[in-house]
Amino acid sequence: MTDIIVVGGGASGLMAAAAAASGGAEVAVLEQNDRTGRKILATGNGRCNYTNEYQDASCYHSQNAAFPWGILQQFDAGRTVDFFQELGIYPKSRNGYLYPNSDQASAILEVLMMECSRMHVEFYREQKCTEILPQKTGFLVKTNAGKLRARRVILATGSKASAIAGSDGSGYALARSLGHPLTPIFPALVQLRCREDFYKCISGVRVRGQVSIFADNACIAKDQGEIQLTNYGISGIPVFQVSAAAAEALYGGKAVTAVLDFMPGMGWEEFLHFLDVRIKARPEKTLEEFFIGLFPKKLCDLWIRLCRLERGQSVSTLSKAQWNHIGRLIRQFETKVAETNPFKQAQVCRGGVDTRSVDPTTLESRLVKGLYFAGELLDVDGLCGGYNLQWAWSSGYVAGREAAHA
Ligand SMILES: Cc1cc2nc3c(=O)[nH]c(=O)nc-3n(C[C@H](O)[C@H](O)[C@H](O)COP(=O)(O)OP(=O)(O)OC[C@H]3O[C@@H](n4cnc5c(N)ncnc54)[C@H](O)[C@@H]3O)c2cc1C
Repeated sequence: MTDIIVVGGGASGLMAAAAAASGGAEVAVLEQNDRTGRKILATGNGRCNYTNEYQDASCYHSQNAAFPWGILQQFDAGRTVDFFQELGIYPKSRNGYLYPNSDQASAILEVLMMECSRMHVEFYREQKCTEILPQKTGFLVKTNAGKLRARRVILATGSKASAIAGSDGSGYALARSLGHPLTPIFPALVQLRCREDFYKCISGVRVRGQVSIFADNACIAKDQGEIQLTNYGISGIPVFQVSAAAAEALYGGKAVTAVLDFMPGMGWEEFLHFLDVRIKARPEKTLEEFFIGLFPKKLCDLWIRLCRLERGQSVSTLSKAQWNHIGRLIRQFETKVAETNPFKQAQVCRGGVDTRSVDPTTLESRLVKGLYFAGELLDVDGLCGGYNLQWAWSSGYVAGREAAHA
């Protein structure tokens, strides 16, 4: 019988295996794919944004709000950087977002695998765990290829986000079969699909702005940055950041609207004055010419069309009401959100194993002794910017350390 079986060879599972093995335990990892850590390779556009220098409890979300931070403090971003630096990863900061200096996600996976190998962690690849049966002592772990026994089990199977092979959400069923309730699961860090039919005309536009999500007319989330307009709706990091809130509201049957402000940071009166100065400086310009150098052309064409104006119309001929209409489209561009893109296009999931059924210090199940949880399988998700991997590292480390010492 092995001391510990880690189910899932992703970010949290590999960290859990390394931590448990360095605590003196005999560890085996079960991975359903033919290779471990596939998702790690896709992170950060192949560069792996493995943590962030800025850390705060508000960067993480769970229905059990205090839960993530208690774990993150046990193995924080500083310890994560030290851990990886010891394994060879020299960090590179981009505004606090940390990447390996080589800008290669494979580097993170390689050093984790080297560490597991140094600690004699055993790997069983192409073995999908199908059942976990608690026994008098330990567990019987069934896979598509056979049976294994272990004193303790760490479930680190990830979520059902992304199309990367292995993200099938099978861990949810395993957790449920052991009595663990799940909170509702939504795609998060994902694009939003909108109802209007004009998106094909503005597809490909990238523009700085603020996106605010309203559910039944109440603002529930907002963020700023580069918004990307696609042929079906809105994308980009600020949209990702608010997407889980939108998904939850849609799931609750609420009417969800995104309001885009393409000139955030300027008060309304200041903005009207800004337009006025610009009109007076060149009254001979057409509407089309007026916006050159201010906003992307495709977007301006849409605003002009929605205001039922002509591109060739002289700016000096527009009434105050017409300028107010254009101004409102620039500052409060409302778009109705129909749905998020599906799980396979999401980077993470909101929701998962209810953390109220898990010990907040050790990550051991409160229901099944010797069973531990790590990573995205739990109802914890972070902002875009290295926070989801930080959760994987922190929870993986704690689960591995605790399972080794139990
Ligand atoms: C495109 C993309 C880019 C991202 N970029 C970033 C980023 O730059 N920074 C960041 O912080 N986060 C990023 N994330 C999120 C981050 O990758 C995940 O939050 C993190 O990998 C979750 O780790 P995990 O160990 O919980 O799950 P996973 O990494 O998904 O690992 C779970 C493993 O378990 C295996 N498994 C599942 N079920 C079974 C089973 N029944 N039996 C055996 N094995 C099983 C799977 O095959 C998989 O290998 C990104 C995600 C995506 C999709």
